[in-house]
Amino acid sequence: MTLRLHNTLTRRIEDFVPQDPARITMYVCGPTVYNYVHIGNARPYVVFGLLSRILRRIYPRVVYARNITDVDDKINAAAKAAGVPIDQITSGFAKAYADDMATLGVDPPDVVPHATAHIPQIIAMCLRLIAQGHAYEAEGHVLFDVSSYPEYGALSGRSTDEMIAGARVEVAPYKKNAADFVLWKPSTPDLPGWESPWGRGRPGWHIECSAMAEAHLGETIDIHAGGNDLMFPHHENEIAQSTCAHGGRLFARYWLHNGMLTFNGRKMSKSLGNVMVLHELLREHPPEVLRYLLMKAHYRQPLDWSDTALKQARTTLDGWYGVLRDLADVEASASDADVPPEVEAALLDDLNTPDAFAAVSRLADAARAAATPEAKRAAKTALLSAGALLGLLRAPAEEWFKQAAAGVEIDASEVERLIEQRAAAKKAKNFTEADRIRVQLQDMGVAIEDTPQGTRWKVAKTDECPA
Ligand code: AMP
Ligand code: ZN
Repeated sequence: MTLRLHNTLTRRIEDFVPQDPARITMYVCGPTVYNYVHIGNARPYVVFGLLSRILRRIYPRVVYARNITDVDDKINAAAKAAGVPIDQITSGFAKAYADDMATLGVDPPDVVPHATAHIPQIIAMCLRLIAQGHAYEAEGHVLFDVSSYPEYGALSGRSTDEMIAGARVEVAPYKKNAADFVLWKPSTPDLPGWESPWGRGRPGWHIECSAMAEAHLGETIDIHAGGNDLMFPHHENEIAQSTCAHGGRLFARYWLHNGMLTFNGRKMSKSLGNVMVLHELLREHPPEVLRYLLMKAHYRQPLDWSDTALKQARTTLDGWYGVLRDLADVEASASDADVPPEVEAALLDDLNTPDAFAAVSRLADAARAAATPEAKRAAKTALLSAGALLGLLRAPAEEWFKQAAAGVEIDASEVERLIEQRAAAKKAKNFTEADRIRVQLQDMGVAIEDTPQGTRWKVAKTDECPA
């Protein structure tokens, strides 16, 4: 089976043919660490993290770089507003981001380059671009000369005029053309800065990614990915810089872009003020519910976030975990080799997670219907292996149902004690007492179910709680 990916460069789904099958290279634009990321920001890291897992199944060596942008005017403003040093802001939010990604089941990339650790490479790239006539110095700035690169705009398919209008580019007196963009800019003494041939200054955003991709992955990389809001100007500018700095060699062979996560139909973004912070959502919901929902739509489609969608995600996972709980006595574990072919085929087909989820639901149905010990073991192995690849079904099934809902604290030992008391009451035929305990548990937000294997309990969803 071949991995097929939608390439923004050609606007087609293509077979993935790596430059060197012995070393696959992938770069994903990481966050600017000036506050907590929102759930929309998590989408590229979840879906392209899944892609890195799929690549690792196929190829012996994958080098996946996901950077941290730790020099930016938004960071400077955040530090000033909080009255703290800049590195307190960047190190604190970079750490929170890494922790939140781990909680969400996102594998760590192989390299996490920080922009501030690549200033010499950034300056060297600026010098090369100036020497080759693609950039120029003006009033302490270094600017990329867009007119020196006729292919500018090919990725996003826009004309220069459209790009200028769409990006509201800064018209500055020192620019030759309005579309020229900053590679380096001067810093006043109160701002972070590094000595350079153009005086003390700091890099622009776009050049950071070009320099870090080159430093860790080489001149031509296999896959470059990010949200489709970065297509212009960020990725267009990365292509211009890297291609021109590398004597016209192709920068990235496959460009992948995820669609936007929306909230009530509008793009979730800090500037629109409609963000839901991942760090907070992780306190209120099981991480797998968030992860499932982020993969529920195909990555190139928009994805609307809502309470209803969250509830549906929880219900689906409850169903899958319910099957695993029924098979609790069956010995089985996840393995790479046991990922069911239909799940793998869906993911190889341009990361078709909706199809992969449909396949998992069919596996869950088959597991529910399995009658023989062999069939049960095979079904449970398939379900767990599919889950492991997707980053789901990682919790012990019993524990899954005992996770408290938002803001509810459940004392598991107290629940177990009441269930024992109820069993004793039932044995003594004291049904009034048994019913009273059931109601007491309901009031605590716990639903119980009597099964041939004994009494089971789970945290009740709000709509299951008595009025
Ligand atoms: P930023 O820190 O704004 O550069 O965003 C980090 C990553 O999140 C980039 O890959 C963006 O394209 C992506 N992103 C930002 N907003 C959204 C959104 N609402 N939905 C999906 N991805 C987003
Ligand atoms: Zn980038």
